[in-house]
Amino acid sequence: MKILLVEDEQKLAEALQKGLAHEGYTVDIISDGKKALSRISLHRSDYDVIILDLMLPSMDGLEICKQVREMNITVPILVLTARAETDTKVQLLLAGADDYLVKPFSFAELNARLQALLRRPNESLPEKLTVGDIELNPAERKVMREGREIPLTLKEFGLLEYFMRHPNQVVNREDLLSHLWDFNYVGFSNVVDVHVKNLRRKLSNDGGNVLETVRGVGYRLAE
Ligand code: CA
Repeated sequence: MKILLVEDEQKLAEALQKGLAHEGYTVDIISDGKKALSRISLHRSDYDVIILDLMLPSMDGLEICKQVREMNITVPILVLTARAETDTKVQLLLAGADDYLVKPFSFAELNARLQALLRRPNESLPEKLTVGDIELNPAERKVMREGREIPLTLKEFGLLEYFMRHPNQVVNREDLLSHLWDFNYVGFSNVVDVHVKNLRRKLSNDGGNVLETVRGVGYRLAE
């Protein structure tokens, strides 16, 4: 497992690299925002996860995240942030980050989040799922609609897979939250809505909307 760690606090970066190496990860460190973006765009398939600090020289983590997702690079991104404001968290999720940790955090917490991001969902269920004109392949982590591949982030893919395993059923936010997030996002329950909104936008590019909002309850994927 290879990690790109984008962090400009040298001591923290080195401590994390040491700890992660001990856990068996290979870690590359980049301390500059623009250099990080260029590394990610040129070596997109080299990394299994990106740990991204928010405040960086030359380009901030939020902008990097946005641009990486615009390039349809779907590698999981874990953001490190010193700011605890909900606004920033929502912005990050809209920019396509999969998870975040507020500094200061313990190494054990970081390690647990990484494991959650790296765990491939439903490895034992490799069959293709089809609902309407959407086809999802869990083993290849690939989604097609009308012959076109739709690049999804890890969380978006997890959400869609859950919807496709429960077609035409109303799925509530609490179910989604408990299936797809290992951690307790107290006071931040709109995390599900933000990811569903992004998923719906990507699915609807070439066809009609299939992901309905059921007011006050949750969502339904219609066949
Ligand atoms: Ca920083």
